[in-house]
Amino acid sequence: MKEQDIGNLIEHWVRPEIRAISAYHVPDASGLVKLDAMENPYTWPSELREEWLALLRTVDVNRYPDPQGASLVERLKGNMGVPASAELLLGNGSDELIQMLAMTVSGPSRVVLSVDPGFVMYRMIATFCGMKYIGVPLKASDFSLDMPALLQALDQYQPALIFLAYPNNPTGNLFAPDQLSRIVEAAPGIVVIDEAYAPFTDHSFMDRVGDYPNLMVLRTVSKMGLAGLRLGFLAGPEQLIGEIDKTRLPYNINVLTQVSAEFALQHRAIFDDQTNAIRAERGRLFQVLSRMEGVTSYPSEANFILLRMPEGRAGEIHAGLRENGILVKLLDGAHAALNDCLRVTVGTPEENDRFLQVLAALL
Ligand SMILES: *Cc1c(COP(=O)(O)O)cnc(C)c1O
Repeated sequence: MKEQDIGNLIEHWVRPEIRAISAYHVPDASGLVKLDAMENPYTWPSELREEWLALLRTVDVNRYPDPQGASLVERLKGNMGVPASAELLLGNGSDELIQMLAMTVSGPSRVVLSVDPGFVMYRMIATFCGMKYIGVPLKASDFSLDMPALLQALDQYQPALIFLAYPNNPTGNLFAPDQLSRIVEAAPGIVVIDEAYAPFTDHSFMDRVGDYPNLMVLRTVSKMGLAGLRLGFLAGPEQLIGEIDKTRLPYNINVLTQVSAEFALQHRAIFDDQTNAIRAERGRLFQVLSRMEGVTSYPSEANFILLRMPEGRAGEIHAGLRENGILVKLLDGAHAALNDCLRVTVGTPEENDRFLQVLAALL
C-alpha cells in the first residue's frame, strides 16, 4: 500500500468538512495534577467501593443490557428533579445525546445555533451531521447573552436546534433565566438547555420542562463525579423524546454503566458532599485568584474558573504549570474572546494550593 493511494482515497471520499477539522484532542495527563477536564477529584470511600464491586460480581456480561435502561431511568427521574410530565432518554455521555438531537433534525439547509465562546461539541457535531453551525458572540464584557443579536439570528437562520449551556462552558457564568425563557419562546425549533454543571449551581430549568413544547434539558453525571461511566440524560416532552429515541443505537448504555450509575444514585449523599466541597473550594480559589496581580478571574457557577493572564503570557504560563506537574486548559487561540485565557478545574484543597503556589511563582 502506497502513501499516495491512501492520500487519494481520503481526498476522494472523506467529506471536505471532516478533512478540515482536527480530532478532539485530549492531552496526556499521566503523572500530572489534572485540572483540565472538569472532573470531580474525589474517589469513593473504600466501603462504598467494596459494596459496588460486590454488586458488579452479580452482573452477567454475556447478555445485552436492558435496551432502555428502564430501571436507571426511573432512578434518575426520582433523583434529579425531573417533572412527572417529562420523559427521559439516556446517552453514552451527554455528547451522544447532542449527536442524537442533531441526527434527528439534520439536513443540508438545517442550522444548529449556539453562543461563542461555548461548548465545542455543538459545532463539531453539527459538522458531523452535515448541518450549518451559527455561533452568536456573547457580550465581551461579562459573557452574557447579546439578546438583540440572538433574536435577530433566530429570525434570520431559523435554527432547528439551539444549545445553551447553563452555566456556560468555558466561561462559567449563568445566563439570565428570563432571557433564556425569551429564547425558548422565540425559537422556531428545539432549545436544549445543557445543564452539565447542575451540581455546582442552585439554578436549573428542569422544573420548566413540559411548560413549552420545544424546551429540553440535558444533564450528565460526568461532572458530578462519574465521568468514567459515560452517562447523560435528556429530559423533554414524551413525544419529542420518542422521536429522538429512534436515532439511538441499540444498547447504547452498557450494563456496567447501568448498574454502577444506579448504585451511585442510591448513595447520592456522598456525591452531594463532594460537590459541596468543590463549591466551597471554588469560592476560596476565586478569592485568592482575584487578589493576584495581573490575573482576571471570571465568577463561576461551575466547577472551573476562567482566568485571563497578563497579555501574551497564557501559553508560557500554561507550559510552566505543566513543567511543575499541573495540567490546566489553554484557551488562548480558541476564540478571540478567550485571548490570554486559561481554564482551571477546581480540585482538592491540596491540588488548588499547589496550583496557586506555582501560578504565583510563574507570574
Ligand atoms: C462536559 C460537558 C458536556 C459533556 O458531558 P459528557 O456527558 O461527559 O459527554 C456537555 N455539555 C457541556 C457544556 C459540558 O461542559
